[in-house]
Amino acid sequence: MASDSVRSRILAAGQRITPQRDLVAEVLEQADRPLSAQELLVAVEARDRRIGRATVFRTLQSLQEAGIVQQVPRPGGQGGYLLCATSGHHHHLVCQRCGRVEDLPEEEVAAFVGAVARDHGFAVDHASFELSGTCAACR
Ligand SMILES: [Zn+2]
Ligand SMILES: [Zn+2]
Repeated sequence: MASDSVRSRILAAGQRITPQRDLVAEVLEQADRPLSAQELLVAVEARDRRIGRATVFRTLQSLQEAGIVQQVPRPGGQGGYLLCATSGHHHHLVCQRCGRVEDLPEEEVAAFVGAVARDHGFAVDHASFELSGTCAACR
């Protein structure tokens, strides 16, 4: 089962907790780094053989729409899916060694975005930061 906090975020997004949503959220929550679509599928099928590929991808999409799951880049190629601890808009620090992703809260970049908007006379609609590098554990 996904944790209570994840389950309550699914409900807060106006979605029901279906067994499929619960299982996909649980697998992503327990992974310590983003999973590719294929890795996610294998992990979900290992727990419940009856879930088909189409259902897994549909469920993944609904969790993305709810803002609980985000797509992030992984070292060396295709993106992965990450269950974010942070609700709402935020940014990511992506470790190129271990692939772990840390959430970077919006508050930490708001001042910078505000200064850029002021200096350039630019009305910012959306900012998305992805900082790539080496995490504290890997350094
Ligand atoms: Zn995140
Ligand atoms: Zn690392």
